[in-house]
Amino acid sequence: MSIQFHSTNYRAPKTDFFTAVLTGQAPDRGLYMPERIPVIDKAGFKKLSGAQYFEVANYILRLFLDDIADEDLLAKCRKAYGFMPRLEKARGEKHILWLDTGPTASFKDFAAQMMSPLMGHKLKPGEKLFILTATSGDTGSAIANAFHNIPNIEIIILFPINEVTPNQRKQMTTLGGNVRTIAVNGKFDDCQAMVKEAFADERLKELKLSSANSINIARLIPQSVYFIWAYTRLVKDMGEEVIFSIPSGNFGDMMGAILAWKMGLPVKKLIIATNANDEFPAFLKSGKYGKIEPSRMCISNAMNVGHPSNLTRLIDIFGGQMDEKGNILKVPDMEKMRGLMHAVSVSDENTRKCIADTYKEEAIVLEPHGAVAWYALGEFLKENKEENKTLCISLETANPAKFPEEINKILGISPAVPESLAKLDKLKENYIKMEADYDGFYQYLAKLT
Ligand SMILES: *Cc1c(COP(=O)(O)O)cnc(C)c1O
Repeated sequence: MSIQFHSTNYRAPKTDFFTAVLTGQAPDRGLYMPERIPVIDKAGFKKLSGAQYFEVANYILRLFLDDIADEDLLAKCRKAYGFMPRLEKARGEKHILWLDTGPTASFKDFAAQMMSPLMGHKLKPGEKLFILTATSGDTGSAIANAFHNIPNIEIIILFPINEVTPNQRKQMTTLGGNVRTIAVNGKFDDCQAMVKEAFADERLKELKLSSANSINIARLIPQSVYFIWAYTRLVKDMGEEVIFSIPSGNFGDMMGAILAWKMGLPVKKLIIATNANDEFPAFLKSGKYGKIEPSRMCISNAMNVGHPSNLTRLIDIFGGQMDEKGNILKVPDMEKMRGLMHAVSVSDENTRKCIADTYKEEAIVLEPHGAVAWYALGEFLKENKEENKTLCISLETANPAKFPEEINKILGISPAVPESLAKLDKLKENYIKMEADYDGFYQYLAKLT
């Protein structure tokens, strides 16, 4: 039976996977969620423990989509994943899952590289698709890279002009071709609001618009793969429990873990580590939700999100309902949520301290996002000593060389630069600037019709 997808606002028709992917956001401004989440049994997990990364991806995607031939899906997975994550042991028997091995050196490559062939799959010849993406840094470059030169797809990226590093900016603005970039004089949340407004704008009906943000369900399913991959690599007995620590901003990564948990991964705890944008830790504690506007600027800049889009999906999974403005219409099962999740906000000061200590004690160079998660895990284990026996995996979501200024300030060294970043300085940048108001963006889009 094929899996249908419903909107978290429940005012749009249910749809199949590929329609959900090409639409991005549901017409009622909700986000798509699978009606049913397939379960992998012990034997399934065991089988995956011997499989390569692209085969694990293929196995999981196969469970969710059926409108694509076996050999086609396998070929797409093999092509998307010419790279795989890296596991590193640290702090005794704990593990860091490095997700910086893709073409733009951030974890977003794992979703973006798989999303582009899935979006291209159902496009008819001659049909043009415009993908609008708001980015706080890494999504834009991962998307730009994954979709660059894909026929029939035009990419439009909005980023907050003062909140991305020069390296992040160059990864988006030096591609050209079908990739257009707009520097918005505002925050990430402004960029995201402009994109959402465009999707809902009747006047733009002529344009076939879609999204590559983590509001797109095609981003989330591939993001469940590395949790399962890492687990099956590390456990001795299938069924043994695991704790993940996840550096979180817009909560796409976390939703990948939630899907993996629903698929049967024996997750004991998800540590949701945010920077000073602590709206979620506060919500989990109090049950009251308030966005942070404007979002707070932290050194883990890809996590400067004051109202995470994917929160509505999390609340949906736990039986509640949240509209796109952040109003809770139906309260989720907070106790169950608290049982699974431990959410903490980590200050910039502690993030820097963690980078310094980890370098000093273990000769490992973390970057600010991964350090937020690694610090949160360390504190969690101090408060819950009995969990030191549990398998713990902390995610590192970018390569330190993406943040050379910050790393240099903290450690006094320059992180080793991967090839993909080394070539950027020689390339020419090309982008336009825009105020954070929807009207200007509308005018820009209207000219594309
Ligand atoms: C996007 C990003 C995050 C946050 O991921 P979400 O899915 O938005 O929670 C963390 N670290 C890095 C390096 C990122 O680029």
